[in-house]
Amino acid sequence: MCRALGYIKQMKNKLFTYWQDFWYLFYPKICDACGKSLMHQEAILCTECLVKLPRTSFHDDTDNELAQVFWGRVNIEQATALMHFVKGSLYRKLIHKLKYQNRPDIGEFLGRELGGELKQAKLFQNLDCIIPVPLHPDKQKIRGYNQAEMIAKGMSSVMDVPVSSNNLVRKVFTKTQTKKGRYDRWENVSRVFEVHKPDEFANKYVLLVDDVITTGATIEACVQNLLSIEGTTVSLGCIGMAGS
Ligand SMILES: [Zn+2]
Repeated sequence: MCRALGYIKQMKNKLFTYWQDFWYLFYPKICDACGKSLMHQEAILCTECLVKLPRTSFHDDTDNELAQVFWGRVNIEQATALMHFVKGSLYRKLIHKLKYQNRPDIGEFLGRELGGELKQAKLFQNLDCIIPVPLHPDKQKIRGYNQAEMIAKGMSSVMDVPVSSNNLVRKVFTKTQTKKGRYDRWENVSRVFEVHKPDEFANKYVLLVDDVITTGATIEACVQNLLSIEGTTVSLGCIGMAGS
């Protein structure tokens, strides 16, 4: 009986694979970076793009260039990024699709990549929770999800560290920041975050997570909120650092 059931299951899987291959003949899955067709065992990136992902070596370096962005501004234990994020790079498309083309799966994928690396990194051990940088609820409604939360979810699935997405919240809607100077941007975001239940983060080591860091103003404001809680220490993990 068991053998028969096993055989049926095997056949079902085989049929599904055939059907999937047939489907992809007409609607091929493509690599979200280079646009080439993917093999059925590949997802998001083709093997070549995955191998060539411009990974940083920031995880074990406390003085890396992302950490330096926050020197003299706010006390972050360790800051790291999955990849360098240079102009014209094919990999920038991933973030664009994640933010503007309804692709939360890309966030989870990149989160799993980063999480897999941090699980091995000495400076990221003993984390108590992962906190995605919050979006304003109105913005989240428009986008359908918070991209930082998708990254956190992917990280959590490989690191076995829980995600806390409802305690650090954003209060005020901030207008687009592209034309503002660093001080204005900081002013704009410094009052917009709030921790509902500080006790939840007291004496905890937390990892703040975002997609791409530009000026660091948003991160600085979040970290200031978190560090006002007794005994809380904060590290930062992101997918890319603009211009690095
Ligand atoms: Zn590719």
